[in-house]
Amino acid sequence: MDGISSNLAAAERRIRAACLRAGRRREDVGIIAVTKYGSADLTAKMLQLGMAHIGENRWQHAQPKWEALGGQGIWHFIGHLQTNKVKDVVGKFAYIHSLDRMSLATEIQRKAEALGEPVRCFIQVNVSGEESKYGLPPEELVPFARQVSKLDAVQVVGLMTMAPLDREAEAARPVFRGLRKLRDELNEAGALRYEVRHLSMGMSGDFEVAIEEGATWLRLGSVLYRQVDQV
Ligand SMILES: *Cc1c(COP(=O)(O)O)cnc(C)c1O
Repeated sequence: MDGISSNLAAAERRIRAACLRAGRRREDVGIIAVTKYGSADLTAKMLQLGMAHIGENRWQHAQPKWEALGGQGIWHFIGHLQTNKVKDVVGKFAYIHSLDRMSLATEIQRKAEALGEPVRCFIQVNVSGEESKYGLPPEELVPFARQVSKLDAVQVVGLMTMAPLDREAEAARPVFRGLRKLRDELNEAGALRYEVRHLSMGMSGDFEVAIEEGATWLRLGSVLYRQVDQV
């Protein structure tokens, strides 16, 4: 097995073990292969190995890969999204994980309407309260969701957060638990006209904790690439 295949197999074993510990079904946890560190060939390799979901955090880096691959795969935009980049992303990325302000929601609505299909979005919440993090403060989530629910081409599928980096995985637990609580509160408040289920949380350093706290989408980059030469 080459490096990426064995990394994938190792990650898969850890995911299964975490699911078992948490009493969760493996099929309820999706993996987004974050390919921002590599070339189009590396993204092609991920697709070939059966990773259907590809994550990129900047349009400038994603564009050459997306074009080289002719849009194969299901693409997730996971980084901060500037309003003037919405036109590039909508229609190519099936999901946007970083909806965090009304100006962005309005622009997504406009582009999605023109395209004639809704865009699936995660509302990004800054649960940890770190100043460096994008995302809505938790207390603004419900009023924000009420506003967004008026935009029929913006389909909220769940919430996304990033835990503080460079710390023990356990340090992420309260942040992930906080996101799950916020999702439940959002549903109880009926702020959207529909229930949302998804939690986009967990990266290479903390994905097992994220699974234990209810993640439905992991965003995995370096754990899949480690010790792999650029292909
Ligand atoms: C880079 C990135 C990831 C993946 O990070 P790793 O620690 O390499 O797994 C996940 N989410 C976002 C938003 C990212 O920018």
